[in-house]
Amino acid sequence: MRKYIVAGNWKMNGKQEQTQILASEVVNMYKDEVNNGVTAVMIPPFIGIGEVQRLAKGSPLKVGAQNCHQEESGAYTGEISAAILASFGLDYVIIGHSERREYFDEQNALLAQKVDQVHRHHMTPIYCVGETLEEREENRHFEVIEQQISEGLFHLSTDNIQRTVIAYEPVWAIGTGKTASAGQAQEIHAFIRDLLTKRYSEAMAQEISILYGGSVKPNNAAELFSMPDIDGGLIGGASLQSRDFIDICKAVK
Ligand code: PEP
Repeated sequence: MRKYIVAGNWKMNGKQEQTQILASEVVNMYKDEVNNGVTAVMIPPFIGIGEVQRLAKGSPLKVGAQNCHQEESGAYTGEISAAILASFGLDYVIIGHSERREYFDEQNALLAQKVDQVHRHHMTPIYCVGETLEEREENRHFEVIEQQISEGLFHLSTDNIQRTVIAYEPVWAIGTGKTASAGQAQEIHAFIRDLLTKRYSEAMAQEISILYGGSVKPNNAAELFSMPDIDGGLIGGASLQSRDFIDICKAVK
C-alpha cells in the first residue's frame, strides 16, 4: 500500500534552542492530534539530528537528513556519508533538492549515485524533481521532469524503486508563496506515475509515494492532498512552525 508522508525540511534553520522547542512541540502535538496514519518526518540540519531523534524516541515520528555524499567513506572533509547516517538510525535522506541542484551544481548522474548510497544503507531516499519557471514558460516541464526521473532513478532495481519516495517540487513554487494549483500538481504527479508504469509496471507505480512540495501551508494542503496521485508533501517554511506542520499532517486524506 502506498504510504502517505509529510516530511518537514528544516533547511539551514534550527539553532539549539529552536531545535529542542520545535521537535518537542511536533512530537507532543502529533501524539495528541494526528490519527490518520500519516508518516511524519522531521529533517533538521545534520547537527540537530541527534537531539531530534532523542526527542522523537518512542513516538511514531521519523527523522531524516537533507543530503549525503555519493562515496562510501574517505577524505571528504565537511561531508557526510549514507553509511554514517544509517549507523545513527536515520530513516530518510533527501536527494536532489532544487537548492542542491542550483547552488551546489548537483546533476542527475551524481544524484543517481547518492540514491544508490542511500539504498545501500537501507534508508529511503526522497528524490526531488521539478522545473524552473523558465522551463515551465518554455513548455519544457514534462521533458525536464522525465529526464530528472529517468537519469536519477531508472537504473534502480524493482526492489529499490519501491523503496524510493519522489517529491515533485516546482522550483518557482519553493519558498515563494506561489503554489502550483492542485490541478497543475496532479498533472505532473500523474505524469511521473505514468513514467514509472512504463519503466516498471502499473502495480509498482501504484506503490510509490509521490509528494508535492512548494509553499504548502495549512490552508492549501487539504486540496493538494485530495488529488489522487499526491501522497503527501515535502514542506519547507511551514515545517518550522509546529502548529502549521501538524495541521498539514492532519490534512492528509
Ligand atoms: C522545500 O524546500 O522543499 C519546500 C517545499 O519549501 P517551501 O515549503 O518553503 O516552499
